[in-house]
Amino acid sequence: MRASRMHLCTLREDPADAEIASHRLLMRAGYLHKSGAGLYLYGPLLQRVLAKVKAIVSDEMARAGGLEVTMPIMQEQGLWEKSGRWATYQASRTMLTVKDRSGQTFGLAPTAEEVVTDYAANVVTSYKQLPVCFFQQHTKFRDEIRPRFGLMRVKEFIMMDAYSFHDSDESLDQTYQAMRKAYHRTFRRLGLEAFAVEADSGAIGGSGSHEFMVAAAVGEDTILFNAESGYGANVERAVGRVAPAPAWAAPAAAVRVHTPAVGAITDVMGFLQKNGYADVQPAHGLKCVLFVAKTEKVEVTVAAFVRGDRDINEVKLTNAITRLLGDQGPVLNLRPMHPPEVVTATTAQPGFAGPGAGLTVGLALFDKNTLDADTPYIAGANATDHHLVGFRIARDAAVKLHWDDLVTIREGDGDPQGPGVLSEKRGIEVGHIFKLGTKYSAAMQALYLGPDQKRHPFIMGCYGIGSSRVVAAAVEQHHDADGITWPVSIAPYQVVIVPAGKPGDAAVEEAAEGLYRDLQAKGIEVLLDDRDAKPGVKFKDWDLVGIPYRIVCGRGVATGTVEVKPRGGTNADVPLAEAVGLATTWIQERLAVLHAAAEAVR
Ligand code: ATP
Ligand code: MG
Repeated sequence: MRASRMHLCTLREDPADAEIASHRLLMRAGYLHKSGAGLYLYGPLLQRVLAKVKAIVSDEMARAGGLEVTMPIMQEQGLWEKSGRWATYQASRTMLTVKDRSGQTFGLAPTAEEVVTDYAANVVTSYKQLPVCFFQQHTKFRDEIRPRFGLMRVKEFIMMDAYSFHDSDESLDQTYQAMRKAYHRTFRRLGLEAFAVEADSGAIGGSGSHEFMVAAAVGEDTILFNAESGYGANVERAVGRVAPAPAWAAPAAAVRVHTPAVGAITDVMGFLQKNGYADVQPAHGLKCVLFVAKTEKVEVTVAAFVRGDRDINEVKLTNAITRLLGDQGPVLNLRPMHPPEVVTATTAQPGFAGPGAGLTVGLALFDKNTLDADTPYIAGANATDHHLVGFRIARDAAVKLHWDDLVTIREGDGDPQGPGVLSEKRGIEVGHIFKLGTKYSAAMQALYLGPDQKRHPFIMGCYGIGSSRVVAAAVEQHHDADGITWPVSIAPYQVVIVPAGKPGDAAVEEAAEGLYRDLQAKGIEVLLDDRDAKPGVKFKDWDLVGIPYRIVCGRGVATGTVEVKPRGGTNADVPLAEAVGLATTWIQERLAVLHAAAEAVR
């Protein structure tokens, strides 16, 4: 490709709304054009990168036994009603909908379980045809509350979604492991360092789920891990050992103490330390957080309790409430109570809620990791400016007790699987694998004929990779002060030739054209920068765009040499006659390293 013909449009300034490197650099290098809020046009360069990502993803999915299909983006409401998800997706407002001219409503695919389950029910009749796995890479729509970070979180994106069908849990498990391996291979070929962690599978969901994360400071997910034991989990799911609180001199019976104008736990403890309870700490508090949970059918008020020095994890809490509500669930929305609601629920100003008399809520949940029924705590008295000191949950609570896993695990907590402690890091979720079980097939009556001549619902798994998000994640992992440093497997072009002689220097032009021809003949994706611009400007552009290998034809051509430079590496003068061979070898070696890494996956 000749640069003069590719409409390269680089920006010197960062776009005002670009907060993270990938957004900034993809915009500045002309990969992306903002077409609307959370909507992007993929420019010619991005198209090439995305095509390479998609090709590697598809290749690995096919290698793992997947069959590629294309499903409609417009999905009939009726199908989603069969699975029961139409109402929940409408209520959570995740799904965008359109109407056709006859007034029929369609959902725009946020995911495709219904469509593929309907397909499988039609094309797979016997257990003899199982297992089978269908996948596609297609546009998905989600009405995200906060689209941001460029390609990371958008309303319209490209997802690889795969769905497997089985007649036994063992078969599902085999495919799940094969997918896990295929994902690791995929990310290694893409040049991405990704790792799998245990993920929240929701209260309704099957027996297992892993997310694939790319470590990045800007990641929206928090991961707890122990490199030594190999344990890793999203904070929404992580378990850990929380160190017990030290003993304190608690009164035998709960004492009501006037704690004027101190609501926050540290303030309460500070006050009590000065007023007769010298050894109390935040860990002796019984923290109460009040919420309102909404399902499609009901709205319930909730009090959640955790030890005073710890926090409630809202995903864990949502799942716990959903489990308690059974048929009334699942919880679609959980929000903290507004102050007037707190006053109604506790007959007190915010800051003085506790599980004793005076608390009126639909559900009271206690964190089983950090709280104990017979240990004394300092609890709110459900009266403004008052606390109960020496409150014991089993003895003094006036609510029905529900114990569950609610605490946010944090750095320093014990590894749940052995000795050692957990560390914390941020990650970008690039993929997700999920055991669904019979959730969709049972609801949609998607059945196969078993060897027993009876009809059974398919056992299913589903697997997603955010192909377009992967592009952004790759930039987060591969950039420097000058721009993007693409892994060679997904760079839009592999080599750029920059003629840098005096204007009209025929020898330089001839050398550049010769290299261009020869590299093309070798199958190398090569750019020739024939634009009328200063070499310095060109170098800046290609560093920003992130072309892995640069060949400069300059003064040296007169004596038979050119300059070669890997992106981020150092310049070297090489004989003109060797430049093509060197570039080709360099690229092949880089690709071989990525392939070898994929082959090493067990
Ligand atoms: P997130 O937690 O980031 O919202 P999710 O768990 O809802 O994602 P999945 O339903 O697991 O996403 O979808 C599979 C993959 O699709 C994700 O791992 C992610 O890479 C990608 N993805 C999901 N939502 C978006 C989005 N709004 N923009 C870009 N990619 C997305
Ligand atoms: Mg996910």
